[in-house]
Amino acid sequence: MPADFLLRYGEIALKGGNQRFFQDTLVRNVARAVEDLGPAEVRLSFGRIIAKVEADRVEAADRLRKVFGVVSLSPVRIVDPQLAAFTDEAVAMVEETLAARPEIETFKVDTRRADKRFPTPSMVASSEVGEAIRRRFPHLRAQMKKPDLLVQIEIRDAAYVATETIPGPGGLPTGTGGKALALISGGIDSPVAAWLVARRGVTVTPVYFHSFPFTSDRAKEKVIDLCRVLAAYAGTLALWVVHFTEIQRAIQLHVPDALRVLAMRRTMMRIADVLGEREGARALVTGESVGQVASQTVESIAVINAATRLPVLRPLIGSDKTEIVARAEAIGTYEISIRPYEDCCSLFVPAHPRTHPTTLELEAAEAGLDVSTLVADAIERSERTTVSPRGQRVASPS
Ligand code: ATP
Ligand code: MG
Repeated sequence: MPADFLLRYGEIALKGGNQRFFQDTLVRNVARAVEDLGPAEVRLSFGRIIAKVEADRVEAADRLRKVFGVVSLSPVRIVDPQLAAFTDEAVAMVEETLAARPEIETFKVDTRRADKRFPTPSMVASSEVGEAIRRRFPHLRAQMKKPDLLVQIEIRDAAYVATETIPGPGGLPTGTGGKALALISGGIDSPVAAWLVARRGVTVTPVYFHSFPFTSDRAKEKVIDLCRVLAAYAGTLALWVVHFTEIQRAIQLHVPDALRVLAMRRTMMRIADVLGEREGARALVTGESVGQVASQTVESIAVINAATRLPVLRPLIGSDKTEIVARAEAIGTYEISIRPYEDCCSLFVPAHPRTHPTTLELEAAEAGLDVSTLVADAIERSERTTVSPRGQRVASPS
């Protein structure tokens, strides 16, 4: 059963000389999102993407609505670009829609001509189709503002008729925005932060610091599941699981407890710096939000920031928790993030953490640590795996 879609993209239409690169990348990403479902044809057509997929329509739509760069999509029927043909098709589609949504009372027809060789002006075509719909369904009223049902007709190489619009994530196509490492803890915030940066076209490689046995392997599974959600939007991604146990032990032994979380976070930044180099990443991403916890005061952020040479992107810096939770629910990470397994930092949060630390203070506190050896050993024992949107996970040597 073939399913045909018209996909709309926004911002990349404006990207000047790079437009072709953005469009081609989006077409490739759209094709990849459905490649395992069945034979597919994906192509550009006058500022839209047409995707024809031999697959279940609901499943195909669910894949396509997650592709970064897609503003919205519509399942379409494709007919001859003739008034009579698309009018008949529109009436037939309205009939099917009414069967599923009998509460519909108002409608609007919107026609666009990408191919101006089609002789009838869009307004005239819209009113002809509208008349036909009203003749067939006399209880429907035409309404220009917020109609219950929007019938869209796009005339290009063929006529594309749609009665449904599904929102996409927007943003820019993955692969057009360079690379960044995203520090993902398994909490609510960091997967959302990684998603926001990935939505801007950045290829994101998650890094998770794992402290087995302080944190269980269930915590690691949780992070892998979160990465799988991200991969449904961004495509297959690499995940670094860093062996953090020895570092955690050393910090516990040698750093005063009020500064432990900060020392831990600084060590994460140093390791991310090295992994970033390997991955060709030009930035790090964290889920920090100013003031949320002691290690996220402006002073704490400054002290953590001082441990890396890479710019740190913090897309949630000004967000309230409720906003972050709403976003996590919308993208599908929330239910995974609230599984109960502890993350390594929360196990070591002292009763009275420093909230106004200085970098000098941290440097003094870390004097008893052999930082470069600890970092090198942790990286040596780290694992790089590949996480795909659906299931299979491939281990690859670090
Ligand atoms: P999250 O909800 O993502 O855990 P948070 O607000 O609880 O964030 P912290 O636990 O203070 O924040 O950590 C701040 C940031 O440091 C996280 O958002 C994440 O980017 C990074 N981070 C913390 N712990 C880890 C970890 N074990 N592995 C990878 N990144 C981590
Ligand atoms: Mg956390």
